[in-house]
Amino acid sequence: MVRYVYDFAEGSRELADLLGGKGANLAEMTRLRLPVPPGFTVTTEACRAFLAAGTAPDTLADEISEHLATLEQTAGRQLGRPDDPLLLSVRSGGRFSMPGMLETILDVGLNDASVIGLAKVSGNERFAWDSYRRLVQMFGSTVMGVDSSLFENAMTDLKRSRGAANDLGLNAADLAGLVRTYKDLIRGETGEDFPQSPAEQLRRAVLAVFASWTGERARLYRRREHIPDDLGTAVNVQTMVFGNLGSDSGSGVAFTRDPATGRPGLYGDYLANAQGEDVVAGIRNTVPLTALEELDPVSFGQLRGHMETLETHYRDLCDIEFTIERGRLWMLQTRVGKRTAEAAFAIAAELVDEKLITPDEGLARVDGDGLARLMFPRFDISAVGEALAHGLPASPGAAVGAAVFDSAEAVRRAASGEKVVLVRQETTPDDLPGMIAAQAVLTSRGGKTSHAAVVARGMGTVCVCGAEELTVDSAGRRFTVGDTVVEEGTVVSVDGSEGAVYLGAAPLVDSVVMRYFETGERSDGRVEAVARAMERADGLRRLEVRANADTPEDAARARRFGAQGVGLCRTEHMFLGERRKLVEAMILAGDESAREKALGALLPLQRQDFIGILKAMDGLPVTIRLIDPPLHEFLPDGTDLAVRIATAEAQGTAPARHDTELLDAVNRMHEENPMLGLRGVRLGLVVPGLVAMQVRAIAEAVVERTRAGGSPQAEIMVPLVGAVEELRIERAEVERVLAEVSEESGIPVHCPVGTMIELPRAALTAGRIAEEAEFFSFGTNDLTQTTWGFSRDDVEAAFFSAYLDKGIFATSPFETLDREGVGRLVRIAVDEGRAARPDLKIGVCGEHGGDPDSVHFFHATGLDYVSCSPFRVPVARLEAGRAALPEPGGAAPP
Ligand code: ADP
Ligand code: MG
Ligand code: MG
Repeated sequence: MVRYVYDFAEGSRELADLLGGKGANLAEMTRLRLPVPPGFTVTTEACRAFLAAGTAPDTLADEISEHLATLEQTAGRQLGRPDDPLLLSVRSGGRFSMPGMLETILDVGLNDASVIGLAKVSGNERFAWDSYRRLVQMFGSTVMGVDSSLFENAMTDLKRSRGAANDLGLNAADLAGLVRTYKDLIRGETGEDFPQSPAEQLRRAVLAVFASWTGERARLYRRREHIPDDLGTAVNVQTMVFGNLGSDSGSGVAFTRDPATGRPGLYGDYLANAQGEDVVAGIRNTVPLTALEELDPVSFGQLRGHMETLETHYRDLCDIEFTIERGRLWMLQTRVGKRTAEAAFAIAAELVDEKLITPDEGLARVDGDGLARLMFPRFDISAVGEALAHGLPASPGAAVGAAVFDSAEAVRRAASGEKVVLVRQETTPDDLPGMIAAQAVLTSRGGKTSHAAVVARGMGTVCVCGAEELTVDSAGRRFTVGDTVVEEGTVVSVDGSEGAVYLGAAPLVDSVVMRYFETGERSDGRVEAVARAMERADGLRRLEVRANADTPEDAARARRFGAQGVGLCRTEHMFLGERRKLVEAMILAGDESAREKALGALLPLQRQDFIGILKAMDGLPVTIRLIDPPLHEFLPDGTDLAVRIATAEAQGTAPARHDTELLDAVNRMHEENPMLGLRGVRLGLVVPGLVAMQVRAIAEAVVERTRAGGSPQAEIMVPLVGAVEELRIERAEVERVLAEVSEESGIPVHCPVGTMIELPRAALTAGRIAEEAEFFSFGTNDLTQTTWGFSRDDVEAAFFSAYLDKGIFATSPFETLDREGVGRLVRIAVDEGRAARPDLKIGVCGEHGGDPDSVHFFHATGLDYVSCSPFRVPVARLEAGRAALPEPGGAAPP
């Protein structure tokens, strides 16, 4: 028989799949003998069974009853007993943290009778009614489906009529009245009464938490964070402890290090006389955790000790929830905390120094996405002038956008390509779509642990929170700071690293990390931490990293960023601009001599291009791809030509002959499907002289660089090969020209000749193709297009968001390599290519070469190198190092 319930004392953090992160860590803290209110966890497996069947498994109710009985025995109290009730919290918690996305119900077990009992035993009538109104509110919205804003409005009305600044201004009688109002609301909305039976409350609360897994905002969050939909949530049933028992009680959140910068120390927020959810909800202003030292030195000292215990035990930044009940400290949650990219690098470096983790573990704790974020530009402090307002630097980065005041508006504007900043008093889980759409989130209330801060940090979205100078008027669609009124649509700049807001679009400058890659300058601790991770990665990685670069400038930058060569030098950009005329002449050439003349004019220009790149990459390989796109891409637009000709005719003048010839050519060369038309190797095979000119330019560049004392390492790459015969013919031509130039110059020119693998047929016949190819380079963009039958430019905008919504793929196959389909072709080509030619050099030159997940795949598949855009080179280096860690990708976060 499957077992669905585990006592906290039975679990451990290794069981996170089954118990969820929260449950597993509650069990772990229990094992560490920290003061955790007793309880038990209903497994994610039970949730999955519930979601599949629509009802709870048969045995679940009995199992819960048994564990409840044990709990009651230890507590010496019974759930909801009228004179001295045991109360419970019913808490969600899946494998991966989804802050605020699932539901939790507190104070289960209270009813019209036990609220009186609770008032008596606690000697605090106000507390009892406060707890009851919380239960009715949470149960009413989560379990019974009443719109939560109805409860909030009733609360606001009551506060107003009592002239209360916040919830503390309401007394026991007020709160008792509020409970009546809430119960009436529930009856009016659902036709049902708030259930008085504690057992029924518990049963329904557990199922409602299960059901919250499939709620809309939870789904949206999972899609965004790539959390699988089928994991389900566990439910933690736990004895309540009370932070709302008076001023000697309270709740707080704590971090063992600053999650924004990584600096060690005690960080967090504390709120006296409050239950836990009040801290994040921003209903009153919290005090910094350090203030607790004065309020309650004993609990503060204990908390500090527990934080140390946890950090040493988890060997990482821990994020903690605690409650103090009348001077007694209880630990309610811990997890390895989310952090900014900057903090991730800083913490990894510090923990290595503290010998808490090994350098390899340090490398596993950082990642390429975070590194990419640190390379983003920052605002130019010297140019921005006075800040409009300051708040807490909750999630770093610099963002510029139009101020918008609700989630829907953010989504609407972002959909039409506008950059927006979502401005709210505080955010709630309902704001999630807007937060995803926005460049930055700005709130006037809440601490670094508020909903806005936690969610934005998790998504890598810039966030400034608690900017108290702001008065946010969502209904009026404006905010004010002193006399300044900022209407919706006004552009603002948000600096999440400094916690500042500026009016208008502030100018940007390079980040210090970017400067480090450019110059090697280790200007501060942040850079030092990044540099150490890079060194570790470079020491470990087996994959080489090259760059895609078409110009000497790009090649030089890539080299500074650590590129070990150019994996893809496209030659088509070299035919644009002024040179387009020469390409036109080549296309229009009526006879061989005209064509030769046109090609002859292009030759020296191409040679100069190659000399520049070979010089910038001297001593390192430069893979030059022969021309790839269809030639008609170099001709003017046919409609423009037709209009010009028609206008001339209408004016009674003869149209220019060049125009009519061009239009003829455009019409003749038109293709329904250029991506699958006359391009790549096919061009070389049917357009006389083109390849010979390009190869000659390459070979002469090699000669010239050699004469100048350089060490040019050109490699010639043939695109879009589908059959070995194509490559054989093309290669013969290449070798002929190389021999010719060697002979003329007296300098032997050896260039390895290889091919791109970007058609399924090439991958499937890779063994044959390897007979003629000295290297393979996977063009994963075209290979993805041709494997899926997707024309990227057509499909991405048209229906990819629908595909992502429907879960057909979790990320676009153009961003992260589709391992199952395209990846299979890659494996086949690697295996069969190497079988035919053991020293075959194999790389990848699509943008996937700079995508972290794809880099891990290429490492595992045994490629020799990845090549990506110069700016992604550091990311690829870091991820190639992480992929080479003994445990791939390092330990997963608990
Ligand atoms: P979330 O996953 O959204 O953080 P939690 O399950 O942690 O939700 O619960 C919400 C709030 O209720 C938290 O602040 C938590 O500390 C508080 N809470 C949960 N269980 C208890 C309990 N047994 N006693 C007191 N407060 C609790
Ligand atoms: Mg929590
Ligand atoms: Mg291609």
